[in-house]
Amino acid sequence: MRPQILVLGSGWMPQVSEELDRHFACHYLARVPQEERPGFIEHIAPAVRAVFTSGTVGIDAALAARLPALEIVAVHGVGVDAVDFAALAPRGILVSNTPDVLTDDVADLAVALVLAAARRLPMLDRYVRTGGWEAKRPLAPNRALRGKVAGILGLGRIGQAVAARLEGFGMQIRYHQRSTAQLAYPRSASLLDLARDSDYLVVCAPGGPGTRHLVDAAVIDALGPEGTLVNIARGSLVDEAALVEALQQGSLGAAALDVFEDEPRVPPALMAMDNVVLAPHVGSFTLEARTAMGMLAIANLLAHFAGEPLPTPVPGKPA
Ligand code: NAP
Repeated sequence: MRPQILVLGSGWMPQVSEELDRHFACHYLARVPQEERPGFIEHIAPAVRAVFTSGTVGIDAALAARLPALEIVAVHGVGVDAVDFAALAPRGILVSNTPDVLTDDVADLAVALVLAAARRLPMLDRYVRTGGWEAKRPLAPNRALRGKVAGILGLGRIGQAVAARLEGFGMQIRYHQRSTAQLAYPRSASLLDLARDSDYLVVCAPGGPGTRHLVDAAVIDALGPEGTLVNIARGSLVDEAALVEALQQGSLGAAALDVFEDEPRVPPALMAMDNVVLAPHVGSFTLEARTAMGMLAIANLLAHFAGEPLPTPVPGKPA
């Protein structure tokens, strides 16, 4: 008999759902009307042995508690900040994620955001479309990337891929993270130092309570009126209210954001500013990455039910 799994969230490619259906008896929560979900979960809960979920949906303690037969949570994404490990670990419930297969595409988006902010692409697009060019409306020059400093917060898989790309644009790279292992670039001793030393601060560290509002008013202030904040990691890392205030007051130059504190809600103040570039959390949203992520999440489930080690268990957690 195929194992029963509860599928949470959305955002994977159709072939991933086909593959899920081939191997498992799937219950797709997103296909159930909102008001019917509690009863639906109660009905299937005793038989559910696995949860397949997205990085942003994860699984909370309340849902985990309702699934007595739960053995594994396969996250379709690398960020596991929405997974309540405290609720899972005492029960020995395994967790897997999908590192590496999305790294290049997320790094590409980070670079696209750096370029879009530096060259003010969305604003220029609006300028042309609204007749600014023909009307010869005044236009200030952009700033070059070459020679500028990109500070990477979290020089992990994605951070390193971003650094390698930005080096190709003639940027100097610095970084900050907790470990002091010798890496290819100069390490700033603190995030505040990194912000002070950088023209662009690119946030690539994980979300969760441990990194909440790491980029606070002081860090934003240190980045300064010529500085640009780029966030492709998690909205929770940045104090969004402080960010809005700094942009409004001109104490921060620009921002380019793929993630927000209360997604999909974006503060109207950010939408109103020309020096802000916005994307709807699409770092890994390519056909290639999303397919590979889905297949890797499924490979973890298959390994578990075959009694084999998980290909990509979440390090440091029960696996
Ligand atoms: P990773 O390889 O684990 O790298 C994370 C880096 O952050 C590590 O170098 C780590 O170094 C550093 N870090 C962790 N805690 C820190 C702290 N408190 N202060 C400073 N640095 C810290 O992860 P990854 O694969 O690069 O992914 C990074 C994050 O990107 C994910 O967690 C996810 O939230 C986000 N992401 C977003 C999208 C999107 O669609 N926008 C897609 C994929 C991933 P130390 O441990 O030494 O501090």
